[in-house]
Amino acid sequence: MPNTIYLDNAATTKLKPEVLDAMMPYLTDTYGNPSSIHSFGAQCNTACDKARKTIADLINAKDNEIYFTSGGSESDNWAIKSVAYMKKDKGKHIITSAIEHHAVMETCEFLARDGYEITFVGVDDKGIIKMDELKAAIRPDTILISIIYANNEIGTIQPIKEIGEIARSKGILFHTDAVQAFGHVPIDVEKENIDMMSASAHKIHGPKGVGMLYMKNSVKLTPMMHGGPHERRRRAGTLNVPGIVGFGKAAELAKGSMTDSAAEIKEKRDYLIDKVLSEIPYSRLNGDREKRLPGNVNISFRYIEGESMLMMVDMKGIAASTGSACASGSLDPSHVLLAIGLPHEIAHGSLRMTLSEFTTKEELDYTVGSLKEVVAKLRSMSPLYEDAIKNKEV
Ligand SMILES: *Cc1c(COP(=O)(O)O)cnc(C)c1O
Repeated sequence: MPNTIYLDNAATTKLKPEVLDAMMPYLTDTYGNPSSIHSFGAQCNTACDKARKTIADLINAKDNEIYFTSGGSESDNWAIKSVAYMKKDKGKHIITSAIEHHAVMETCEFLARDGYEITFVGVDDKGIIKMDELKAAIRPDTILISIIYANNEIGTIQPIKEIGEIARSKGILFHTDAVQAFGHVPIDVEKENIDMMSASAHKIHGPKGVGMLYMKNSVKLTPMMHGGPHERRRRAGTLNVPGIVGFGKAAELAKGSMTDSAAEIKEKRDYLIDKVLSEIPYSRLNGDREKRLPGNVNISFRYIEGESMLMMVDMKGIAASTGSACASGSLDPSHVLLAIGLPHEIAHGSLRMTLSEFTTKEELDYTVGSLKEVVAKLRSMSPLYEDAIKNKEV
């Protein structure tokens, strides 16, 4: 067994060696500023353009619709705040969902403190947006719909094309946080009626601190970062050349592996789900079984406290998560698990395990064995479990 089993690929992924190789020249000898006219600059400019094209091709966008940013959080902030700023004369109403990533949720809450009205549309018990609720929420002053493409905690994939259709038919801009979906599931921004979309390199085996905002050519967002004329005058700041080159390489590899690896990861995902549910009593899968990210497993164990479980599996060399990394350290149960209707005590006993193409079946077998021990041990110490047995609830 390896020392550590990494099952937290929704938080971040391992940099692929091919990505590092592609980046290396731009961290060493090819250090020009892509804005410079001389050959040092031109080489870097060409490398960034190549990455831009690879990324655009992956989602059926045009090269000049890709804007490099510092990551998913910046892209989310930019899209939402700029639409709010530009459209405030039309209205101040924004529709989003109850299961957004913090980068979207907190941005909307920031705007709410500034006089914007936010509707958080609910989801069903699998985490799928309630389309009737979404349609009913639309008002004449609605300026933006922002819905997460695939959820980072429970992996549920939304009917993005339909949501985009609704937004477009009403003349409302549509943004999607696709950080978990980009490079993992096929995306077509044209067919799916997407106006703006956020993605990040480090969720697809690229480097941290680089991402992009896709912005349809008809949507001209005001810059959030002012300064030089970079990124067609929309995002100032010298380009992160090594990061962008790494992002491009990671996207190229993702494109090549999206069908083969995704099928393999899915198979391992289903293997893990089935094994846990059949071998550990009083466990349940959170999220939709089918409309689900290839690598996402999220399971609730009754009569268990998630943080204790997380620490005990960590001692066995397994890195997992209780929810989103941004939320760990807080004692509130995940807003996503509450939104799908889990009571607090069950939401608290949840574990997210996210797989990658590097995850092996042996690792999963070891993980299930360890989980069985940990769950049994924690339950043996749980007064709730004792009571439940006494009252023949279980
Ligand atoms: C990771 C993540 C983000 C944030 O991306 P960064 O590049 O880390 O800023 C935003 N949304 C979702 C769904 C994510 O999973």
